[in-house]
Amino acid sequence: MSDLTTHLAKLDSHLARYRDKGILNLINGEDVAVSETFETRSPVDESLICTVARGSATDIDAAAKAAKAAFPAWNALSGEAHKKILHKIADLIVERAEEIALCECWDTGQAYRFMSKAALRGAENFRYYADLAPSARDGQSLPTKTHLNVSSRSAIGPVGVITPWNTPFMLSTWKIAPALAAGCTVVHKPAEFSPLTARILAEIAHEAGLPAGVWNLVNGFGEDAGKALTEHPDIKAIAFVGESRTGSMIMKQGADTLKRVHFELGGKNPVIVFDDADLDRALDAAIFMIYSLNGERCTSSSRLLVQDTIADEFEAKLAARVNNIKVGHPLDPATEIGPLIHKVHFDKVTEYVGIGKTDGATLAAGGERIGDAGWFIQPTLFTHADTSMRIAQEEVFGPFLTSIRFKDEDEALAIANDVQYGLTGYIWTNDVTRALRFSDALEAGMIWVNSENVRHLPTPFGGVKSSGIGRDGGQWSFEFYMEQKNVAFALGQHKIARLGA
Ligand code: NAD
Repeated sequence: MSDLTTHLAKLDSHLARYRDKGILNLINGEDVAVSETFETRSPVDESLICTVARGSATDIDAAAKAAKAAFPAWNALSGEAHKKILHKIADLIVERAEEIALCECWDTGQAYRFMSKAALRGAENFRYYADLAPSARDGQSLPTKTHLNVSSRSAIGPVGVITPWNTPFMLSTWKIAPALAAGCTVVHKPAEFSPLTARILAEIAHEAGLPAGVWNLVNGFGEDAGKALTEHPDIKAIAFVGESRTGSMIMKQGADTLKRVHFELGGKNPVIVFDDADLDRALDAAIFMIYSLNGERCTSSSRLLVQDTIADEFEAKLAARVNNIKVGHPLDPATEIGPLIHKVHFDKVTEYVGIGKTDGATLAAGGERIGDAGWFIQPTLFTHADTSMRIAQEEVFGPFLTSIRFKDEDEALAIANDVQYGLTGYIWTNDVTRALRFSDALEAGMIWVNSENVRHLPTPFGGVKSSGIGRDGGQWSFEFYMEQKNVAFALGQHKIARLGA
């Protein structure tokens, strides 16, 4: 049997249990059926995977109340107890990593070669925050001559987590693990296009011994379940990953209840290649950072800025490699790009092919649909673009690269910063002073020099400009999920002003 046939057989057995009842909400430790459902279909062939509970404001209310009721006891547990449960969740993710990867690929169209690693990274996120849980409440001693100031942290309360459809499993773990380690309880609203692995993750958490109500799962659409979550008075904060314009809506929706928000939003990230760089490595990294994960990746390098002295040769090699990328069934381990998540998204990406041509850029590779079933598209490359074009300004979020030439460092910097976004940037040069200068001036939350995106969990993750508000990773996640308290103890008889004495 081929690897693909084996994967399909395994997937079939994993999906069997969803066929009858569909994906239910999980509130206060119980499966909750709802009257309305929607369908999730595979982007491979549009076949029905199963039905999914379409949560309403009433379901969100029940979940928020459960999270509120569970909060005092969960928060009162020791950091060591939190650590133990979070490690157990990580253990169970590792045990079910293959199932998670197969389901995620089928639900989203992502290639198995990447998703098998994403499931394991989800486990790593839990392990990392498990180990930080015992120190989550730690504060500082900041004494003065007259007072001993002692600060501490405490969990903010029940929080809402809203996640997108790209790498939904990994992103959910990234948000939920620090929330639980901080002592918060959670209501999770996953993306409607990719509900499968959020359900597996919530089941794993309960199996690991997480008390009822600590983690509640409500599926549904953004405009009803998502909106209700952001407006609920018992929910103290919203951790959101998704599009910039959705972030803006959530900020408005949360205004009446003064919601604390953390936003990880869109990007139009530049990879800047100077003529003194190691061009072979730059080529590998530029290709990887836009065509892996179907280009449906917030940190993708969707704009190539290439120095004009090397542009002809670099773009020719790039086009040859892009034409050689293997597009295929996501469960085939040889596949490099699978289908796009949904018809809606496929239509968006293909529309940008037309926009690029109309704007006068050169279509150097791809751009066509593959087959007539599923949402497969050839990896696409536009060259000779300029920064004013829509394909150089707007997030396409597919395997779609826009190449722009520059003359010198000043022009490269001006183009790199000439977008509304500022998530990541990738600089390729062997001139160390230029790397320092350029990274200092580049408007981005995360920059890699002579490297693709290699994530280190203790470092801050997030964007500037329209790419986000707040940071994840290390202690930054705790800053979001926790309140700071300072207590000042007078050390003696300091002078107190005596009014009316
Ligand atoms: P999206 O904004 O359409 O949806 C994200 C989530 O928000 C979904 O669960 C959706 O149901 C919900 N939602 C929609 N409207 C809502 C509303 N009014 N109130 C509350 N919730 C609502 O995003 P998407 O298309 O699922 O994901 C792709 C986007 O996510 C891209 O822009 C990508 O760059 C971004 N993203 C950013 C990061 C990052 O770390 N910066 C990571 C991954 C994805």
